[in-house]
Amino acid sequence: MPQHTADVEGVPVDLRHWIGGRRVASDRTFADVSPIDEVELAQVAAGGAAEVDLAVAAARDAFPAWAALPVAERSEILRRVADGVEKRVEDLSRVETRDNGALIRSHRRGVMPRVAMNFRYFADYAEQRLGHPDMEVRGHRERITYDPAGVVAIITPWNAPLMLATWRIGPALAAGNTVVLKPPEWAPLTASLLADIMAEAGVPAGVFNVVQGTGLEAGAPLTAHPGINRLAFTGSVPTAGVISRAAAPNIVPLSYELGGKSPLLVFEDCDLDLAVDLAVEQFDNAGQVCLGAFRILVQESIAQEFTERVVAKARTIVQGDPRDEATDISAMVSRAHFERVRGFVERALADGARAILGGGPNDDLGGLYFRPTILVDATPGCEILTEEVFGPVLTIQTFADEAEGVAMANNTRFGLAATLVTGDRERAERVSAALDAGTVWVNCFFVRDLGAPFGGNGKSGIGREGGIWSFDFYTDIKNSVFSP
Ligand code: NAD
Repeated sequence: MPQHTADVEGVPVDLRHWIGGRRVASDRTFADVSPIDEVELAQVAAGGAAEVDLAVAAARDAFPAWAALPVAERSEILRRVADGVEKRVEDLSRVETRDNGALIRSHRRGVMPRVAMNFRYFADYAEQRLGHPDMEVRGHRERITYDPAGVVAIITPWNAPLMLATWRIGPALAAGNTVVLKPPEWAPLTASLLADIMAEAGVPAGVFNVVQGTGLEAGAPLTAHPGINRLAFTGSVPTAGVISRAAAPNIVPLSYELGGKSPLLVFEDCDLDLAVDLAVEQFDNAGQVCLGAFRILVQESIAQEFTERVVAKARTIVQGDPRDEATDISAMVSRAHFERVRGFVERALADGARAILGGGPNDDLGGLYFRPTILVDATPGCEILTEEVFGPVLTIQTFADEAEGVAMANNTRFGLAATLVTGDRERAERVSAALDAGTVWVNCFFVRDLGAPFGGNGKSGIGREGGIWSFDFYTDIKNSVFSP
């Protein structure tokens, strides 16, 4: 008989699914292992088609009443969810840090407060800003309404599991939909705490459901389920391809947030201190960040000084246990991912690249700790310059002039984000307009309002979310025309 709860950093976590307002066990479980020390934290319920059927049915049953609730009441409940998240920031931070190895200090001060915002912002938006005044058209009155779509399936990755899930759950619920979430098997625990918070906040049974399990066993039946009306996926490009095929027969609208290979363009007229800081910032979360600008492109005239300063600063990075506030970077999320990152670096080195920092595992720490790594002289077109590594690995290349820099930045099949550093305002305008990316940061990084559109070009995704774009996706927009 599997255990139903685990104590994780002093926080009790239920290891079962959350379906129709109650905990549901499975016969089978999967091991959840911490990246910090490879200790098994728990055996989590492993859902499959049967649990997915139950969850979709619960979400369908709950939909009419939730959709019919006046928006002010729905939003009030979601603001209570935000309050609940705020009250449990410390618990959520401790559990997620243990589970996925990301820094406790980022969780406490950035990620978990943002989780609360994901509910508060979209609750307020739905109540106060969604909708248009009626229009007069040739004597007729036209009304545009945002009707909830039904059941939203949400599938998320492990690198920021609660933040990425709630960024979808917030607007989906605020619009009047019900949700089935399939959390990542490498970091499944905070989704369970969110279910507790939802219940305490008074979210009715079946409005929010969690089915734990692996991608193949729990994710696949959810994506192919005829009972879902929207499918929001955050994860890798290969998985997105599989999901597209599974979802196709049901003609379900998709929103995809996928991988990247984003550039950091450093021009000779930049503030070099800022450029160095932005380059080193890319080691955040041990490089396990979709938006990371791991492809550094620097103008030849400043390349030597810039590179020396980046290496010097990166040497001061403190690697270790993410539960320590002083730690700057931690471990790879799993053994499989660690080996994947190591493979990328070993092949790059064999192919002629040079490591001017790191280049392999951190043998002092052992386990899943991979050293912050900077590679130069990689062969143009080679794998390390074109594939997403999702680890603490930066490459530095040089360009002669603006045209070459922009061409190199755009030479990718991804298009999630791009960052440029320049002191010339006109260049900033010109280059940001020429870059092929969903988000462009000029002399800054990672700043993003929940009202701004977010998504990727090319293989980095389909669609945009944020502000009204979220509601465009999670609703059926209706135009009603009334005769005079
Ligand atoms: P992944 O694609 O392996 O898994 C993501 C999720 O999909 C997991 O929950 C997994 O269980 C599930 N899954 C796997 N196979 C499935 C299938 N056949 N059917 C249904 N579900 C399935 O990705 P990952 O390794 O967890 O995450 C890393 C990737 O996510 C990177 O590519 C990263 O860039 C991307 N990412 C993108 C964003 C963004 O906003 N664009 C944010 C974070 C991460």
